[in-house]
Amino acid sequence: MSASTMSARLARYSSIFAISLLAVAELATFARAADDDAETPATAPVETKAPRAKTKVDSAKREAWKKERAAFKKKLKAWKNAKKYRGCRFQSPKKFLVRSSFVKNNQIQPKAHQRAVRYRAEKYGYLPGFHLEKYAGASVGEQVTGMRFMGLPIQIHERLEPALICVEKRIKKLCKDDDEKYTAKGIGGLRVGNTYRGGEISNHLFGIAIDIDTGRNPCCGCVDPWPDHPLCKKPAKSIYERTALTKCWINSFEKYGFYWLGRDTLQDTMHFEFLGDPDRILP
Ligand SMILES: [Zn+2]
Repeated sequence: MSASTMSARLARYSSIFAISLLAVAELATFARAADDDAETPATAPVETKAPRAKTKVDSAKREAWKKERAAFKKKLKAWKNAKKYRGCRFQSPKKFLVRSSFVKNNQIQPKAHQRAVRYRAEKYGYLPGFHLEKYAGASVGEQVTGMRFMGLPIQIHERLEPALICVEKRIKKLCKDDDEKYTAKGIGGLRVGNTYRGGEISNHLFGIAIDIDTGRNPCCGCVDPWPDHPLCKKPAKSIYERTALTKCWINSFEKYGFYWLGRDTLQDTMHFEFLGDPDRILP
């Protein structure tokens, strides 16, 4: 091997090495952001490794995804740059995506669950290690964006950026009275480790879930020590008494297709997930 071939190879290997290091650092950041979440209905959290497997995405799906993404970015840019705030469409969560549609009496319903997972993979991308490549044109990781929500940094799926902008606008406009306002101190979005066991896939992995102040908004239906939280122990007439979040905040999310997991048997009051149609967010 000539010296020049050798140095070319070395350069190539070192750049591959640098990219791998970056990827590892990135994963570590996401994992840390996720530590304090509570969404585990059974005993111990199960970390699902996200191997960087060689994935086979159908080339036609890949091309279609590229086109759709370019169109979305163009539309988002125009929306952001519009002189007048144009808002988002109001929408409700799709029923088949709501957790209670595919988990009944703590049992996962395989067919219903698969339908919900497939929809998420088609809309948001595949997750390495979960065998969803056949449904998607890209991975979730390729579609993550960083933004601020109520002044706090968050990593989420890029398709949701306008929805969170709209939620924030609504909160700032409507949630001003003493019994309506709330100040978020810590939030979390995208994660790479699955905290569910039993085959369920957290919407945090798709980058479409957000947790707000885990300490003040407990998950009373989760595993110990969650049920020991003072808000879980006191008698309550409704779930709203088990969270520091105000109805005004919860309503603001729900207007735009987010589902509040406080309504689920998990009573995960910190957690909102977008279960609407991402193609309908922008007007
Ligand atoms: Zn959560």
